[in-house]
Amino acid sequence: MKLDCLLLIAPAKKPVQGTIFIGNATKGYKLVVKTRNKGQNRELLLNKENVKGIIDKFSGAGKATIMFQNLNVLISEAQPEKLRQFMAVLKQCLSSNGEKPVSLPRLHTSDFKENLPPPKPKKMEILERNEYFSSSLQFPQTLHDLRISVQLKKVGSKEIAWLGLKNLTRLNLDGNLFCLLKREDWRKFEKISRLENLQELYMRENQLRFLPEPFIEALPKNLFHLDISENELSYIPPKLVRLVKLRYLNVSSNQIECIPENFHLHKSLSHLFISNNRLRYIPNFFRRFRLMQSDFSANSIYPGVKNVPDENRLNLVPTLYDLASTTLLNNRAWLEVANGILPVLVKHNIFYSALTCSTCLKFVPSSGLNQITSKPLDPASFSNITTRIGCVEARVVKCCNC
Ligand SMILES: [Zn+2]
Repeated sequence: MKLDCLLLIAPAKKPVQGTIFIGNATKGYKLVVKTRNKGQNRELLLNKENVKGIIDKFSGAGKATIMFQNLNVLISEAQPEKLRQFMAVLKQCLSSNGEKPVSLPRLHTSDFKENLPPPKPKKMEILERNEYFSSSLQFPQTLHDLRISVQLKKVGSKEIAWLGLKNLTRLNLDGNLFCLLKREDWRKFEKISRLENLQELYMRENQLRFLPEPFIEALPKNLFHLDISENELSYIPPKLVRLVKLRYLNVSSNQIECIPENFHLHKSLSHLFISNNRLRYIPNFFRRFRLMQSDFSANSIYPGVKNVPDENRLNLVPTLYDLASTTLLNNRAWLEVANGILPVLVKHNIFYSALTCSTCLKFVPSSGLNQITSKPLDPASFSNITTRIGCVEARVVKCCNC
C-alpha cells in the first residue's frame, strides 16, 4: 500500500515530495517514508506502543498526521480518496495486535527505488491568457518562482489560489493591468501578506497610478527586492519604509516628482533606481546611504536653482498644516496613533509637508524655511560604487539647531 504526497517529518520545517508505504515487517507492520530529501527517510514500526495518535479528520482535504513517539509525519496534498484508504489500512494494522489480518506485501528497501513520483515544478511562467484561464491550471505548493503576465485586471478565485503559495520567493506580475483593479480587488490582493517567504516582487508595466496604502502595508516583511518601474506612479508610497529588509528598489520610468522625506529610514537599501522621473532635487540625506548602485539620471525638468524658495518666501512662518505634520513625524508614538485615525490623503500629505534636516535628520516644516540651499550633486558625496546622477541637484536643509 503506498501513497504519494507532500511529507513533513516534524520537527523538520519544510515539506518535501515523497511516498509512504505500509508493509509487512518481521513482527507486525511498518511504515516506510521515502522522500527526495534522504535525511527525512524513515522506517517506523506500526504498533500501539510506537504510534501515539492519528489525526485524519482533514483527509477530505488531502491532509493527515501520524504521531509517533519521537516524531510526527505530516501528510498533505494527497489524493483524498487514496488517503482515506491508506488511513483505513493503517488503522487496521494498528488494531491487529500483530495477528496480521491485513495482507500486505513484504517491503524491502529496493522495492521503492523507482516509485518516487516526478518532482513537482518549482518554477512556472504563464504568458498566455488562454493558459491562465484554463480550468486545468493548478498552482502546486512546491512553486518558488511564479510569473503571470496576462493583462490581469481582476482578483478572483484563481488569484486567491496563487496568493496562498507559501513557498513562493519570487513573484513576477509584470505586464498586467492592475491600473484597472477596483477597490474590492485591491482588498483581496492584500492576501499577498500570506506569502511570508516572498523576497522578490515585480509589478512593472501595469500602468499603475498609485498603490493603495493597505496593499503596501500587506506586503510581506521579508521582501528585499521590489520593482515597480515603468508605471505612472506620481509618488513613492511613504509606507514602503515598513519593509525594513528592502535592499533593491526600482521606481524608474514613472512620474515621481519628489522623494518622501521619511525615505531616509530606508537604511538597508543598496540598489536604488529612480531615473526617468520628474524629480527636481534629491534630498541630501542620500549621502548617508550605503548604495552600491543607483541611478538618478533623466530627471530634472527644471535644471538650475528653481527649487530654492524665492526671496519672498524666506523667513515666512510655516503653515499650521506643515507644523502639525512635522510635530507628528518627530514623535513616532503620536504618529502611530494618528495613523489609525487620519484619512489616507492626509496621511500621505504629511510626508510631503516636512523636510529632514540634512545634519540631524529631524523633520522641519517644508514651508517657511529660510535655511534651504540647493547645489549640483557631487557623485563623490555618495558612497556608491556605481552612480548615475544626470543634472539633478541635492537639497540641503538645516533646522534651527544645526
Ligand atoms: Zn538639524
